[in-house]
Amino acid sequence: MIVVMKNGAGAEQVQAVADTVTEWGLKPHVSQGEERTVIGLIGDEAKVNGPALEMMAGVEKVMPVLKPYKRASAEFHAERTVVRIPPARHGDRGLTIGGPGVVVMAGPCSVETRDMILSLGAFLKGAGAHLLRGGAFKPRTSPYAFQGLGVEGLRYLAEERSVVGLPIITEVMDTRDVEMVAEFADIIQVGARNMQNFNLLKVLGRCNRPVMLKRGLASTLEELLMSAEYVINAGNDEVILCERGIRTFETFTRNTLDLSAVPVLKRESHLPVVVDPSHGTGHWDLVAPMAKAAVAAGADGLLLEVHPDPSHAVSDGPQSLTPKRFKALMGELELVARAVGRNLH
Ligand code: PEP
Ligand code: MN
Repeated sequence: MIVVMKNGAGAEQVQAVADTVTEWGLKPHVSQGEERTVIGLIGDEAKVNGPALEMMAGVEKVMPVLKPYKRASAEFHAERTVVRIPPARHGDRGLTIGGPGVVVMAGPCSVETRDMILSLGAFLKGAGAHLLRGGAFKPRTSPYAFQGLGVEGLRYLAEERSVVGLPIITEVMDTRDVEMVAEFADIIQVGARNMQNFNLLKVLGRCNRPVMLKRGLASTLEELLMSAEYVINAGNDEVILCERGIRTFETFTRNTLDLSAVPVLKRESHLPVVVDPSHGTGHWDLVAPMAKAAVAAGADGLLLEVHPDPSHAVSDGPQSLTPKRFKALMGELELVARAVGRNLH
């Protein structure tokens, strides 16, 4: 249930509502927008006396949240969530995801060598990327395929951040690794295959790092939002949603990138939305057109696989851009972003 306060309602009126619902045994979640304040009520709604709340000073209306996702829903928040990433190094600028700027996260599928991470990181920073992506723990379909460098890979990423200055996003697969990955990562990625690993989501809800949730291979957008609800409900509001393609009967592409997910998720939720056209298509030549389309559709960010030598990549070479192609794409993305009233920071 949410309580919408009148335009111009005072802080004491908001406090009075919060105190009243607390007395009833519910938890108020106050969200202050520029124009209105919304108070979300978390807990047993049977305990809410709606008419009494509606009569309180400063209250405009009391509304049920009908969606199964509550705290992830657009109604629950007066404003869109903006995730803030602190500067990688002293003197660098911080980043925001979900604000006016479109954020580009780029890098290899897997962290392969220290050299690769440091030199590719420097190139990507020069080309305008905002975060370095790279998997140290890899969810591979085959147990015989490269599983990632583990903590050694995390150390290379951390070195890149302190030397080159790009903050990092990397995946966690196991609840036992969350604390360790959180020490290294600026954003923790939950891969498509773990989107409904509810124990992992609950543990991530208790860590103090933003979490990017990738849509499951065969998950609906409602299921994605319910997974976000798990993380938020466990205490972490900083959730980013990522569309990365879903399984369909189509075989020309690795997955079918569902770009309508972008406006749907932005209508249904206050959370930032990122698109991954690399896994979404599976082919490097399809990445640029879909990346541009994603920005045109309103995405707050892109996740792009870039490899210095895609034909020798240990994973996902066919969908990886070369550094040169990435740089060219950044120029085109800037134009698309501007055409839709955004920028690439
Ligand atoms: C990845 O980002 O490298 C990855 C494994 O993605 P997904 O979980 O979407 O398959
Ligand atoms: Mn990959």
